[in-house]
Amino acid sequence: MDERYSRQTLFPGIGKDGQAKINQKHVLIIGAGALGSGSAEVLTRAGVGRITIVDRDYVEASNLQRQQLYTEEDVAAKLPKAVAAEKRLRAINSNVEIRGIIGDANPELLEELAVGVDLIMDATDNFETRMVLNDISQKYKIPWIYGACVGSFGMSFSIIPGKTPCLNCLLRTIPLQGMTCDTGGIISPAVQMVIAHQTAEALKMLVEDWEAVRTTFVSFDLWRNQYSSLKMSKAKFAGCLSCGEEQTYPYLDEENRMKTTVLCGRDTVQIRPSNQGEVSLESLADQLRSLGYQVKGNPYLLSVEMGEERMVVFQDGRALIHGTKDLTHAKSIYQRILG
Ligand SMILES: [Zn+2]
Repeated sequence: MDERYSRQTLFPGIGKDGQAKINQKHVLIIGAGALGSGSAEVLTRAGVGRITIVDRDYVEASNLQRQQLYTEEDVAAKLPKAVAAEKRLRAINSNVEIRGIIGDANPELLEELAVGVDLIMDATDNFETRMVLNDISQKYKIPWIYGACVGSFGMSFSIIPGKTPCLNCLLRTIPLQGMTCDTGGIISPAVQMVIAHQTAEALKMLVEDWEAVRTTFVSFDLWRNQYSSLKMSKAKFAGCLSCGEEQTYPYLDEENRMKTTVLCGRDTVQIRPSNQGEVSLESLADQLRSLGYQVKGNPYLLSVEMGEERMVVFQDGRALIHGTKDLTHAKSIYQRILG
């Protein structure tokens, strides 16, 4: 055992005491895709006591380029990622108690899984789940580490309840929407860089070196050689319903979750968002134009051309996606624009 973690305990930031703490901790990883595989592997090798990893998907050939836990055998067997990940992680370190959960990370499941957890790692590919995870973190006072990447771009931020702004606060200052790997293509080094940021913060938190935890929002583009680190101390919003003075945890309420329906007899999907806040159509139009979209509108709605489809957004955040009957596809279009 001593030999196994010797290089890590020699590192002054961890030491023997830190290692003992790491061995006692329970980490919940939401998602076993690219970020989830990488985080799980780093934390398993580091000797975290318990790791629970949740995923709703199965392994496909297109995953192998960047999802480091999986093999061609897993693809052939169409193994659920949670199952393939659990098997591989156990082979890496049999001292760690690994539990793979096949399931959708909805409020109900996350409330159940959060019991006794010391830290949550964000490795999901969608915004809806991150908002749920953000509320779970606030409600049960569990820190979590946001991470996202697309193309050659990635970002990360550590959220500590009672200390830092939460993701819901951050949305007021940074347009985080549209960060899904499915739509824009991705290179593996961008994934690895986010994993490095997320797991470095995780190790600091697991050894309880709170002083060392990064307080800035880090983002980078490995292809364009850009790196930025933004101060976030002023982003905390007192009126935030997730972390502010009156917490209602809006994203844990099933009623508030995004509802998607195909409109009867039309090639159109309607999406009602999970958060009922008003959308500023003017600033959304500006933002979309700067991203190169063709936008038309009036004070009540905005029409956005998106190739095969066209999306119409209303002030209350409701949207119609014309040109499709595919709910998942429509949802991804919606999330690309509105998160
Ligand atoms: Zn907040």
